[in-house]
Amino acid sequence: MPITKTDYIWMDGELVKWDDANVHVLTHTLHYGCGVFEGVRAYATAKGAGVFRLSDHIDRLFSSAKIFLIEIPFSRAQLVEAVKQTVLANRMTECYIRPIVYLGYGEMGLLTLNCDVKVAIAVWPWGAYLGDEGIEKGVRMKISSWQRHDPNAMPPAAKGIGMYINSSMAKAEALKAGYDEAVLLSPQGYVSECTGENIFVLRKDRLVTPPVSAGALEGITQDSVITIARDLGIEVEHANILRSDLYTADEAFLTGTAAEVVPIRSVDDRLVGEGTPGPVTRKIQETYKEAIRGGVERYARWVEHAG
Ligand code: PMP
Repeated sequence: MPITKTDYIWMDGELVKWDDANVHVLTHTLHYGCGVFEGVRAYATAKGAGVFRLSDHIDRLFSSAKIFLIEIPFSRAQLVEAVKQTVLANRMTECYIRPIVYLGYGEMGLLTLNCDVKVAIAVWPWGAYLGDEGIEKGVRMKISSWQRHDPNAMPPAAKGIGMYINSSMAKAEALKAGYDEAVLLSPQGYVSECTGENIFVLRKDRLVTPPVSAGALEGITQDSVITIARDLGIEVEHANILRSDLYTADEAFLTGTAAEVVPIRSVDDRLVGEGTPGPVTRKIQETYKEAIRGGVERYARWVEHAG
């Protein structure tokens, strides 16, 4: 997906022009992949741009960094303000927001402890990650031949830069085979998550989503959807599921900041339900769509206004 250029990128405490936001080719993270990032979205609300669950995303950035022994040289409050400042400076109302923490130029070799820690925040307009048709009609999924990380090889609780090679390989494999997105299994054979989204299945009126122990990131959209579903009176639990649970699900959908709530039309060519988005998926999708734009009073706390 081509990127849409905006005016400024926040780098280490200052707004710099988009074209000047560059790093050296010997930047440590470019070589060894150690760093952490977030994907956040802002939406147009009645009170201007609202960043959805911004503080939760910044908290996750800090816990990802802690896992990799990276000390972020800013406080949480400073980065929350920096995101808001970047959204406002670029006059964005609806945009994708990418905070990234990386190790800079100066050190080489695998020891990261002496590296300079750098932080950048970019924002740009970005539409539905899996397409408007995906949101409307659902996506076709393929179980990947690539497994999700073993938790003792790569920590699934962290949103670590280098970890995403696994997702990129699974994504390319699924698209080359004619599908829209991949589902990855854990080394133990349980359903873990998708390349950049969590997964939910509805079976016998109960929603189930895999736990972190199955290799899934603790998604902020996943958490919002669990809250929304429970408030709608739907039973939800974190539990291990098998690929056959996807084949026989009444409904299934995926969740992520970039993708939002996307129905699953089929898995490995088996239709989910009738192959059209089911009523529970639709209701959750509609409520989420209103909540992110500040339209649901009980979820107003999730929207953090930029101005
Ligand atoms: N799993 C992975 C691997 C992801 O990259 C993402 C996107 N951050 C998610 C799940 C969904 O997380 P969230 O809802 O917080 O965006």
